[in-house]
Amino acid sequence: MSTVTGRFAPSPSGRMHLGNAFSCLLAWLSVRSAGGRMLLRIEDLDPDRCRPDYAQQVEADLRWLGLDWDEGGMDGETACCQSRRREIYAHYLNLLQEDGLLYPCFCTRGELHAASAPHASDGTPLYPGTCRRLSPEEQTRRATLRRPALRIRVPDREIAFTDRLQGAYRENLARDCGDFILRRSDGVHAYQLAVVVDDGLLGVTQVVRGRDLLTSAPRQLWLQEILDFPHPTYAHVPLLLSADGRRLSKRDSALDLGAIRASGRTPESVVGSLAFWSGLIDRPQAISAKELIPLFSWDKVRREDVRLGQNLPAF
Ligand code: GLU
Repeated sequence: MSTVTGRFAPSPSGRMHLGNAFSCLLAWLSVRSAGGRMLLRIEDLDPDRCRPDYAQQVEADLRWLGLDWDEGGMDGETACCQSRRREIYAHYLNLLQEDGLLYPCFCTRGELHAASAPHASDGTPLYPGTCRRLSPEEQTRRATLRRPALRIRVPDREIAFTDRLQGAYRENLARDCGDFILRRSDGVHAYQLAVVVDDGLLGVTQVVRGRDLLTSAPRQLWLQEILDFPHPTYAHVPLLLSADGRRLSKRDSALDLGAIRASGRTPESVVGSLAFWSGLIDRPQAISAKELIPLFSWDKVRREDVRLGQNLPAF
């Protein structure tokens, strides 16, 4: 039996758009073409952005596209919703705390953005280390005024890996990333922690996701190492860009699955467009996700982002 385990990890913060469908199709094909196990994990930790009805829609849209999974989702015994796994994240956070790797950070968002610090690889301000060396007395005093976030102290170390599509990538954690947050001041566990714990505990061996998350991989590889989880392989797939060159977002409602389904397009025509843009087929044609399985190979998948024209191909 194949030992490949992959996952869909959507955040239910809106309707799925074509870019999300593009990454999900490639993640699914990579697993199914290897006879592997596919998991669905609903990444709904942020109560300000995520809603259960969006999660249901994501599941319905995946099914409509012809993409299935073996475990996870919202229902059933094998449900995997991050919002139901908070105690698990708290446990791993505790291990890191016991190792002395965490410290409370009292900086406000405004303070972080005001500091003219250089930017980290993901575009956010590099944390200047303001709260790194607060004395225990100062920490206690400040905690009476404001609930802190928890940050992890990163080492001055280079993390390098080879991405299946993007090739060699490296980052020095201290220089390019900085100490990062593992629990927000409102108590919500951070994506970086949850994703590592879940991929580790669920036995994920390959991560296929959008290229915008490439810069998260070094942090995740390092956390896997200190939490003693094996490293999965990574493939960061191209992003779909709007006609004016912006990355598609949940605000591009004309390109979300709701609008596309309402326009009367069939799943095969949508999957055919995605497959054509990815490089898996060399002319636009209607095709089902299942029919693509024997055609899948990472060697055919393009690395560059795909800029969509004003009109989607109609077939
Ligand atoms: N939940 C993330 C997203 O929707 C994906 C995280 C991941 O694949 O690691 O962008």
